[in-house]
Amino acid sequence: MARGILRIALVLLWVPALALGQAPVSYRLSFPEPEHRWMQVHIRFDDLPPGPLELRMSRSSPGRYAIHDFAKNVYDVRLVDGHGAALSVIRSNPHEWNVIGHTGSIDVTYRIFGDRVDGTYLAIDSTHAHINMPALLMWARGLEARPVTVRFEPAPGTSWRVATQLFPGADSLTFTAPNFQYLMDSPAEFSGFTLRTFTVPDGPGAPVFRLAVHHAGTDAELEAFTADVERIVREARRVFGEYPPFEGNTYTFIADYLPWAAGDGMEHRNSTVLTSASSIRSNRLGLLDTVSHEFFHAWNAERIRPRALEPFNFDEANVSGELWLAEGFTSYYGPLILQRAGLTQVSDFAAEMGDVINTVRTSPGRQVRSAEDMSRFASLVDGAEHVDRTNFDNTYISYYTWGAAIALGLDLTLRGRSNGQVTLDHYMRALWEKHGRPGGRAPGYVDNPYTMADLEAALASVSGDAAFADDFFARYIQGREVVDYERLLARAGFVLRPVSPGQAFAGQLQLQDVQGRPRVTSAVPFGSPAYAAGIERDDVIVAVAGRPVSAAGDVEAALGERKPGDAIPIVFERRGQRTTGTLQLVADPRVEVVPVEQLVRQPTAEQRRFRGGWLSSTSRNSF
Ligand SMILES: [Zn+2]
Repeated sequence: MARGILRIALVLLWVPALALGQAPVSYRLSFPEPEHRWMQVHIRFDDLPPGPLELRMSRSSPGRYAIHDFAKNVYDVRLVDGHGAALSVIRSNPHEWNVIGHTGSIDVTYRIFGDRVDGTYLAIDSTHAHINMPALLMWARGLEARPVTVRFEPAPGTSWRVATQLFPGADSLTFTAPNFQYLMDSPAEFSGFTLRTFTVPDGPGAPVFRLAVHHAGTDAELEAFTADVERIVREARRVFGEYPPFEGNTYTFIADYLPWAAGDGMEHRNSTVLTSASSIRSNRLGLLDTVSHEFFHAWNAERIRPRALEPFNFDEANVSGELWLAEGFTSYYGPLILQRAGLTQVSDFAAEMGDVINTVRTSPGRQVRSAEDMSRFASLVDGAEHVDRTNFDNTYISYYTWGAAIALGLDLTLRGRSNGQVTLDHYMRALWEKHGRPGGRAPGYVDNPYTMADLEAALASVSGDAAFADDFFARYIQGREVVDYERLLARAGFVLRPVSPGQAFAGQLQLQDVQGRPRVTSAVPFGSPAYAAGIERDDVIVAVAGRPVSAAGDVEAALGERKPGDAIPIVFERRGQRTTGTLQLVADPRVEVVPVEQLVRQPTAEQRRFRGGWLSSTSRNSF
């Protein structure tokens, strides 16, 4: 009897809560004239609490950190109450619609234009709708916990289907999301894409992997590509020992390889968007490199997540000092997994690591900011557009590149000091176990995101040496030093060497022939001989070492005859004035990484063993 009373009481408490707070927000997307690149959005809100409804368009999108103001493409907004009567709206910002005087239900309709195929924006045309939700959907503040339904209505005369990580709904064109965060994280491709699926055993389960590819290639090309993707998916799992628990037990690769697409890759919890103007036939390895990077994000960034990005704030730029790990370590593992999966040659991997080291060692940005500072700079560079000129060539290094260099340095350092027993894979696993695997209170959330202190503590624990972890973070992540790659790479049988030994160097600048004269068209690097000589962007070079020059090739030829240490006069024109400076030439500081076997030597047995533990498939390695 007591139990019965309790049950009735619970039901009475629960039902009104559902009625007041949990009515789903329902979206309907239709495409009356896709050829004109716009779509129609209808939103129905019910059971609204009294007071203004704060409708918003997002200003940022997870994984692309600049402010975008997606409201710019919204027009023809109509707001009516449950009886069809127009509602008053207060607009204090371009991205805000504050609706007043409603009686609990609101219908919103608007049109939105979209013409960019990538991971951040929106594209509608006669072949598809390619959707990043923050670029498309208005949402209401305070309703973030409500479930959502999304219905796609095909364009006239089409039989488009939907590829998405949204959950299946009442029919094949209706989907659901458990809350706002998951909705915004769920891109969609609505088209006549080609679908391939495979499963990979994983403990008691076998997640389903779907490839939805909108392209102009052949089925045979897609078949071979799918097999390559499966190798990546299997190899990535070996770093962590298990797949993340994909919601719905499914992970979806949404690929648009179309001549009119922009090149991009964007990570999500249970899917990724891959776009490129190239094709499987012309750029197989390039496309696989993006597959590898984005799939690694299913662990690193989507679930092993910086506290600064959790939950994502769609109103503002999201600033994180940890993107050197979230993006940079992912940029290291992308090519490493391709290598371990046997999809690239050792020389390919060496060349890629050489580029990374070269950039970080020679870029002047390292004089002014650390890898942590560069991460915080993301909102000013990642997808941001600048009308005015910037000096980023001098003041910025991508946290992708610098982070990849840190990952390489840390992996080799850990391997070197433990004789291969402790590796970066162990570190990633430790982060997974502490911050990723515990999951979140609902799909779309991470309950135990990390801070910089957590990252350092995990390194102390994995290496068994807190002083080492403290020193590494202080010098290479929060400081501006770089590790000794030459010594570390030698253990694996790689040589770090100058690209142009003995060559004189004036600084890494671009010279272009503009109106028949050699002009400096890039920033002049801080500290370079050209900078010291007083040369700046837009200057026209007139003479080098006493010889007149009339083309960029003449300048290069004049420098090519000189040796490091030579001092030569250089004459240049700037804004009507002619100036003479002195170029104090130095040795070309640029470096590359080469496997010793390319230098007509063979790696020693010890180098072979070290390299094998690092670059071979970890399928046989035991943890
Ligand atoms: Zn990434």
